[in-house]
Amino acid sequence: MTNTYTRGLHEIAAGIWAWLLPDGGWGMSNAGLVQGEGQSFLVDTLFDLPLTTEMLDAMADLTASTPIQGVLNTHANSDHCFGNQLLDDTVTVYATSETDHEIQHGTTPERLHMLATSDFGPVLSPFLRSCFGAFDFTGITLRNADTVFDDSLTVTVGGRDVELLRLGPAHTVGDAIAHVPDAGVIFAGDLLFIGGTPIMWAGSLTNWLRACDRMTALDPTVVVPGHGPLTDVDGIAKMRGYLAHVKDRIADGVEAGRPWRETADRMDLDRYASWPQAERIVVTTYQAYRQAAVDTPQEDGIDLFGEMAAWQQRHVRKR
Ligand SMILES: [Zn+2]
Repeated sequence: MTNTYTRGLHEIAAGIWAWLLPDGGWGMSNAGLVQGEGQSFLVDTLFDLPLTTEMLDAMADLTASTPIQGVLNTHANSDHCFGNQLLDDTVTVYATSETDHEIQHGTTPERLHMLATSDFGPVLSPFLRSCFGAFDFTGITLRNADTVFDDSLTVTVGGRDVELLRLGPAHTVGDAIAHVPDAGVIFAGDLLFIGGTPIMWAGSLTNWLRACDRMTALDPTVVVPGHGPLTDVDGIAKMRGYLAHVKDRIADGVEAGRPWRETADRMDLDRYASWPQAERIVVTTYQAYRQAAVDTPQEDGIDLFGEMAAWQQRHVRKR
C-alpha cells in the first residue's frame, strides 16, 4: 500500500480503493469502493454533485465490469451523502435508522448555500465561507436510505462480505463503519479524523472512545478515515488520545460548575492545539455539557458556528 495523500483513487488492498480528498478540512471527505465478483459496493458519496461526479468518473473503469450494487452512508453529514442522487436507481442505499432519520430532518442544500453566501458579519461570514464556500450546493435532491439497519448488517458483494456496523452515537447519532474482514480494511466515516480535529455533533465522548476501541479490536491493516490520509490502528489511538484528553477537561469544567463556553474557552488542548480546526472543541464541549449538565440551554446550529468562529479568532489566529 502506498500512503500518499493525493486527490483521487488509491488501491489500498486487493480490490479495495479509497477516494481521498485533501486537505481533509470542512467538507473535504473521503469515500471508497469494494469490489467483488461482478459487483462493487460504495462507501459514501460526497458534498456536492461536481465532487461526486469526479469520483464516480474516476471509478468508471472499475464499475463498468463490477457495477455498484449498494452504498453505505456512514452518517448523515452532507459531505457523506449529498451525491447519492447520482447513483443508478438500482443501487441500494444503506444507512442506520438514526442516520436515515437525520438525513430526512437534517441540513438541506439550500441552508448550506445560505450559510455560505449570506452576510453574518465580519467574524462569522468569513468562517462560514472557509467551511462551505468552495462547494456547489445547486441541483442537489436528497436521496435517503432504501435499507436501514440497527446494530449491524452484512452485505455480500459478489461473494465478498462487507460488514456494516453501527458504532454511534458519537460524531453523529447514527455513525456506522464498513468493515471488509477478508482484507482487514475499515472505512471509518467521521468516527475518525486524521490530521484534523474531530467534532462531536451527538456523542457521548464515552461512546466515541468505545467506538475507537471497537475499531481497534477489529485489528485492521488499513483504516480510511472520513477526513485525512489513510491510517491504521495508530491513527485510531492518536485520535482516541484527543477524545480522552478533552473528556477529562470537560468533566473538570462540569464539576467546577463552569458554563460550557468558559470551559471551551479555557480548554488547554496541549499537544492537540496545533491540529487544524481546533475550534471544533466548542461544539464537542457544548454537546458533552448537554449530556452532563442538564441546565445547559439548547443552541442553534448557526450559533455554534458563531461560537467556533469567535473561538478561532481568540485562540488560533494569535499563534
Ligand atoms: Zn465529514
